[in-house]
Amino acid sequence: MPIDNRDAVLRDPQILVLPLVEAREIFEATGKSWPPPEARTAFREVTVRDRRAEPWWAGLFRQPRAVATVLIQQECQHPGCHTPRGDLFWDGPVQVWTNPCGHVDRPEHMIIESLLLEIAYANQLLTEDGTAR
Ligand SMILES: [Zn+2]
Repeated sequence: MPIDNRDAVLRDPQILVLPLVEAREIFEATGKSWPPPEARTAFREVTVRDRRAEPWWAGLFRQPRAVATVLIQQECQHPGCHTPRGDLFWDGPVQVWTNPCGHVDRPEHMIIESLLLEIAYANQLLTEDGTAR
């Protein structure tokens, strides 16, 4: 199931669970995995705070206890924007950037964006394979 409504996912990340399971089944069946080598240049690799991997109490502190390195789009994904994202800088264990357009990219949204790219790649494999349902 391709997901093209990013905002719906941001409101309810649970709707990603089933497509992710499907995506990983597709990778298993095709012997491919995310990310493919070409994705590392097509997309932007960023290291952000990963609250999913932190104990509950870590949220009380500014310093991350867990990070994730994920791939995101080069452009701002806020509705109707799609202008280039700002330059990356390291801030301790994570990377930060300020978008010239003024939109703020939250770390948890970057992780979701990466999962959406992974799902889209899996669905693309199905299409290329000619086995699309
Ligand atoms: Zn923007």
